[in-house]
Amino acid sequence: MTIQEIVRKSSDAGVHLVTFLYCDNGGVIRGKSAHISSLAKRMESGIGLTVAMQAMSDMDDLQPIDGMGPRGEIRLIPDPNTFTILPYSPRRATMMADMLTLDRKPWAACPRDFLKKQIKRADDMGLKVQAAFEPEWSLARRNADGFSPIDDSLCFSGVGMIEPMMVIDDIIEALDAQGLQVEQYYPELGHGQQELTIGHADALRAADNHIVYRETVRNVARQHDLYASFAPKPFPDQAGNGCHLHISLWDATGEHNLFYDPDGRHNLSQMGYRFIGGILNHLRGLVAITAPSVNSYRRLSPNSWSSAFVCYGPDNREAAVRIPSGYWGDEMGSANLELKPSDSSANPYLALGSLISVGLDGIINDSVPSLDLEIDGDPATLPDGELQRRGIQSLPRSLDEAVLALEADEALMESLGPTLSEAYLAIRRADAKLFAGNDESFEVRHHFHKY
Ligand code: GLU
Ligand code: MG
Repeated sequence: MTIQEIVRKSSDAGVHLVTFLYCDNGGVIRGKSAHISSLAKRMESGIGLTVAMQAMSDMDDLQPIDGMGPRGEIRLIPDPNTFTILPYSPRRATMMADMLTLDRKPWAACPRDFLKKQIKRADDMGLKVQAAFEPEWSLARRNADGFSPIDDSLCFSGVGMIEPMMVIDDIIEALDAQGLQVEQYYPELGHGQQELTIGHADALRAADNHIVYRETVRNVARQHDLYASFAPKPFPDQAGNGCHLHISLWDATGEHNLFYDPDGRHNLSQMGYRFIGGILNHLRGLVAITAPSVNSYRRLSPNSWSSAFVCYGPDNREAAVRIPSGYWGDEMGSANLELKPSDSSANPYLALGSLISVGLDGIINDSVPSLDLEIDGDPATLPDGELQRRGIQSLPRSLDEAVLALEADEALMESLGPTLSEAYLAIRRADAKLFAGNDESFEVRHHFHKY
């Protein structure tokens, strides 16, 4: 759509504010809005943003990063392809914004540009990336002590569909209206936990969709006087909220899924195995980006179906990389890899961009993983010494450990680039320090309604 078309469409619909959204290094969705009277101008010139915003740790504590202090300005420039009028607040619309420097170049700390660069790398190799975010989240009521889950229902149970029925129906209607392809819904294992999945899309759209999704779910829940939490572990005694990342690579025509091979082990192609090898080689650092909050590491523990070890397996929900079995009649189209140690406290652009980056490295370096890393059951139940014998490492058990692994991962650091990686590491270190000095309830409170 052109700028004129967006302004006309907004005016016709009675929209008075259009928010330019972005997701920061801390995984928080933020934005600034333009009034309809100046929308055309703002779409061209952008809305000003202080460079400091990419150096904000939890509770908006500005970290001392060179070039990200009080002086300095970038522009939020919206992508017209992402324009959507909010069905749950029809006088408002949103667009995803890119961060540009004053001389109109992509800012080195822009997460959306980082993802675009990784998509371009794939493109240059003749590969098209398809992806889907598979979010779980918890519906809660606020009470005097904090939050409590809306029910104590069982996994996939009919009873679990009763309490959230109205809010789920309104969420689906709002997602449909914004062009997201809703695929499945079910109440998940944890109390009040929900899962509503969205179909795969090209990589940039998939990440944009996840922002729209989080915004929609949170807003519609509030309209029902409920709170939706995307925190990885909003209730420490309940199942965690994953946001598994699904990915597949297609040929340049977009018609052939290159991860599918009917003769391959588990119907996965050699390219698929090399992609897995790339993920596993970098996984301990990668999780600092895909599972990046302190609260993420409460979720990544053995026997939680969220993965705790660097391994892969066919249909294995305890493996960090799952090779899901294909769907009858669409074996080629449905071939994909699922990254389990990933959650919605991540910035989706950084998470998906990093996943693409390490997977492509795996293809380039022919990193077919050893069969010792293929696991059929729960790695935590392997006999003593078997994990070591097979060379299966644990995932980091804390954000601190993950940040160290990321810092030591030269390929990932190079891919992020110095500006983005320095700011990213600084805010993660600050978060780790802040929460280490506080208790579990402080941690839960500060993650519960942030994402
Ligand atoms: N809730 C689990 C997680 O934290 C995932 C359960 C499943 O859908 O396999 O990742
Ligand atoms: Mg699930």
